[in-house]
Amino acid sequence: MNAATVRHILDTMESMFPDAHCELNHSNAFELTVAVLLSAQCTDETVNKVTADLFRKYTSPADYLAVPLEELEQDIRRIGLYRNKAKHIQNMCRILIEQYGGDVPQEHDQLVTLPGVGRKTANVVVSNAFGVPAIAVDTHVERVSKRLGLAGWDDSVLEVEKKLMKRVPRDEWTLTHHRIIFFGRYHCKAQNPACPICPLLDICREGKKRMKTSQIRKDKERSSTPKRKIN
Ligand code: SF4
Repeated sequence: MNAATVRHILDTMESMFPDAHCELNHSNAFELTVAVLLSAQCTDETVNKVTADLFRKYTSPADYLAVPLEELEQDIRRIGLYRNKAKHIQNMCRILIEQYGGDVPQEHDQLVTLPGVGRKTANVVVSNAFGVPAIAVDTHVERVSKRLGLAGWDDSVLEVEKKLMKRVPRDEWTLTHHRIIFFGRYHCKAQNPACPICPLLDICREGKKRMKTSQIRKDKERSSTPKRKIN
């Protein structure tokens, strides 16, 4: 894919979603880290419902360690995998207190060593909380990148991230991450992407394939519909 096409994709997404942003509610790096950890295999909407109460009750790593694990589990039970996540949160809080003075470290290399914090979470935290450009590849970013040909169909999540970092200017990484997520969440959905009205259809391999398939289906339906006899 050439640079002009990449530019066209980025500009189109910007015009469609100029206000794209992190949809996980948080007021500091620690809350963001907990929210992203909770968001694995769960919608941001559900996480926000849970953290509305959670962040009122627990404001520091020490607060999460001051309650039994079972109590924390109950506080986040509406979230999938809540038992594992509760364990990760308490283990993470212990390390934050013992090694980082109760703060979330700013280095990506340090973040990924925390329990429950993978590469994607670390990218979200460094970019949103500490202003370091990063592209976190979640399910939307991976799907959209592959459909548009910004990455290969067989690319791993890490390969998708590397290709995006190579193609997108560094100072646009963080905003591009948000815009692709909005594009995938509200327009190019996993099921029924809005191809017929998509401004990127002319350059999208997946969209063209889908439009062709639906045209073939329509043609077949038309040819199999019995013709009415005109008297
Ligand atoms: S044409 Fe369809 S598949 Fe391609 S980016 Fe647009 S909505 Fe997504």
